[in-house]
Amino acid sequence: RRLIVGAAAALLGVSVRSVYLLQEVRESSLRDSLTGCVNRAYAMDVVATELMRARRSHLPVALIMFDVDRFKSINDRYGHLCGDAVLAEVGAKMRASLRSSDLKCRYGGEEFLILLPETPLDDAHRAAETLRREFSELEIQWNGRVIRVTSSFGVACARPNEIDPTPVIARADEALYRAKRAGRNCVRVADDPPAVVTSTGHVA
Ligand code: GH3
Ligand code: MG
Ligand code: MG
Repeated sequence: RRLIVGAAAALLGVSVRSVYLLQEVRESSLRDSLTGCVNRAYAMDVVATELMRARRSHLPVALIMFDVDRFKSINDRYGHLCGDAVLAEVGAKMRASLRSSDLKCRYGGEEFLILLPETPLDDAHRAAETLRREFSELEIQWNGRVIRVTSSFGVACARPNEIDPTPVIARADEALYRAKRAGRNCVRVADDPPAVVTSTGHVA
């Protein structure tokens, strides 16, 4: 069994510990029944585990944070149940679009966090852009009407040796905030401060 889990972990690109955690979570209260996403507390544990693993493997880890645009107006116009139907469709589209090894988390009401193990920033940016387009193309049927929504995205990558989940999540959140400010329905990437190269060629 250990061998099988080990092989599964290698295939999925996640740690053995994460595979056990994922097995544990499959049918438990740690998963939100509306969207199929794991809850925030659980995701924080997995992000911390994956950051520690990335420090050892020197492989990149990326986060995508997104928030449904003007979601309050969906609830106000069509009712809370319609809002719920939108969230269910968003969850289903995430499962269809992302890898099964990507952890999908319902971070808040209509705010989601995705952990992409072994994924560089450029690839995460592309994945976010694909999701953005796919969400905007969703046609949600509601009482004979077609409801459409958009979402705004922030993408961030863990820095080398970064093991605390809080700052990397904060950078994704800050990028998401800029996406909202830029008019919504777009992706923004966390700006790492540019490395300063000294005259001796050292990176300061
Ligand atoms: P923005 O584009 O700035 O994100 O605007 P917004 O309206 O999406 O943002 P705001 O945070 O003002 O509204 C989010 C709303 O989401 C408020 C809350 O009632 C609603 N909400 C949170 N959880 C649920 C849920 O599980 N179901 C439904 N239907 N609504 C929810
Ligand atoms: Mg919103
Ligand atoms: Mg929100």
